[in-house]
Amino acid sequence: MGVAPQSVRNAIHRRPPSISLSAAVRTLTPPARVPVHVRSFKTPLSHSSPRTPYKTPSKVPPFPLVPPSRLIGVVMASSGPVQKSEEEWQAILSPEQFRILRSKGTEYPGTGQYDKFFADGIYECAGCGTPLYKSTTKFNSGCGWPAFFEGLPGAINRTPDPDGRRIEITCAACGGHLGHVFKGEGFNTPTDERHCVNSISLKFVPASQSN
Ligand SMILES: [Zn+2]
Repeated sequence: MGVAPQSVRNAIHRRPPSISLSAAVRTLTPPARVPVHVRSFKTPLSHSSPRTPYKTPSKVPPFPLVPPSRLIGVVMASSGPVQKSEEEWQAILSPEQFRILRSKGTEYPGTGQYDKFFADGIYECAGCGTPLYKSTTKFNSGCGWPAFFEGLPGAINRTPDPDGRRIEITCAACGGHLGHVFKGEGFNTPTDERHCVNSISLKFVPASQSN
């Protein structure tokens, strides 16, 4: 008693840079409990006196002393500043925006508003308004969706799909699904990356309005 198992100590120090809400809860909850129990058991033993009899560990509450709301707060802060419930997103997005941004859908190729669109400006997240791409990084990939070779610094998170075949890209601020990123396809761009983005996940702001 008093020393956490190796696996738990590893979990305490593991700080993944990007993690889904459900995965973060699974990761954070057990380590948050362990230090509380260890401290509760050890402190009375080392400082107890005959006048303050030590309470047996069995009377220590079995639940974590950190309220669940505090744990959720930590998780929310690490997954982006814009947090809304699914009901709130449904209220502000169109059904098609919700299907793609929040349910990770894909629009039909060649149908998007910005597929063959090359005006000068900034592309913002259609969900939360965070700037994501400059028009100067957009190129014509011919694939049927808007393509960018680079996102604005820190604006976009990357997460492997569950099947490990593709890398999903999401808005770092709200978690909205943008599309996927592909590398090494041979496009003549500075990064040799293609951010394949659903038009409906984006909102274009002309240069004349964005500065
Ligand atoms: Zn967003």
